Amino acid sequence: MAIVEDVAALRERTLASVEQAADTAALDQVRVAALGKSGALTGYLRSMGQVPKEERALVGKAVNEARVAVEEALAARKAALEAAELAAAIDAAAVDVTLPGRAQQVGTRHLINRIADEVSEIFLGLGYSVAQGPEVETCYYNFEALNAPADHPSRGLADTFYVVDRSGAACNVRGESDVLLRTQTSGVQVHAMEDREPPIYVIAPGKVYRRDVADPSHLPQFTQIEGLVVDEGITFGDLKGTLDYLCKQLFGEERKTRFRAHYFPFTEPSAEVDVSCGICHGEGCRFCKGTGWLEILGCGMVDPNVLSMSGIDPEKYSGFAFGMGVERIACLKYNVPDLRMLLEGDMRFLRQF
Ligand SMILES: [Zn+2]
Repeated sequence: MAIVEDVAALRERTLASVEQAADTAALDQVRVAALGKSGALTGYLRSMGQVPKEERALVGKAVNEARVAVEEALAARKAALEAAELAAAIDAAAVDVTLPGRAQQVGTRHLINRIADEVSEIFLGLGYSVAQGPEVETCYYNFEALNAPADHPSRGLADTFYVVDRSGAACNVRGESDVLLRTQTSGVQVHAMEDREPPIYVIAPGKVYRRDVADPSHLPQFTQIEGLVVDEGITFGDLKGTLDYLCKQLFGEERKTRFRAHYFPFTEPSAEVDVSCGICHGEGCRFCKGTGWLEILGCGMVDPNVLSMSGIDPEKYSGFAFGMGVERIACLKYNVPDLRMLLEGDMRFLRQF
């Protein structure tokens, strides 16, 4: 009865393998080797026809008993291994409540937005309202209505991003498009004068664009805040008082201002405003390049031409306008050495403010 002994030996070997299987994957290999399509026990069941008739009953009984025993052992081992693997997975995923917590990083408002809001708040307190204008603007609002004629240097292709359609239809004889990314927020002044009746007291913060290569003191996109006042009896004294108040609110009560004559196409007279250096208090230091003063904005009395172009009677009304770069104010207020740091999104830098 060699076959029956072979089956018994196979049964013992398989049961031993079942007990030794270290995980469910190894156990499955044992199952396939014994009971799979070409498994060893399956082979005996298939070749039953070749067993001599008188032995067939005994062999069949031995093979079937072996199959039942192996199946039972597999099921028992499988249940044990699955329970152990589940326990291990739970252990691995367990939360160690004794570990220190992971802090959530709370975002903050960007320095530029904060300063723009701070300046807007100062003017809201003076009774101004906030005006907005389009960032894609026409030449008229960006230049002409602001008294910058066609040959004005600021209109050159070198300074302005023009928006050109494929046919070039929007271009004038100089090849300039009539549509551009605004180079200044001053166009909002024109919209405000067209849309509102005096008295006008508006502040207009917004992004502007120029064809500059980014370096420590230039950016191709930056933020300006424009202010405009049109009312009866507005004088240069009102302009000086307003901007002196702004500087003291923004930089501190002890800071002084000075006005230097300058030229802008849309204001007459025009001035640049300096604030006394906060590091040396006017003595002169490296930060203020030895002058004791820091340039912060441009301003002037609105040119009567600009008023009449926007339909305001310059005989009855006068006004002043001013504009400042928010990035520059950020640099002056917080001693930022390179404008590009404001755009790089480095949290180590931004979190300081
Ligand atoms: Zn200084």
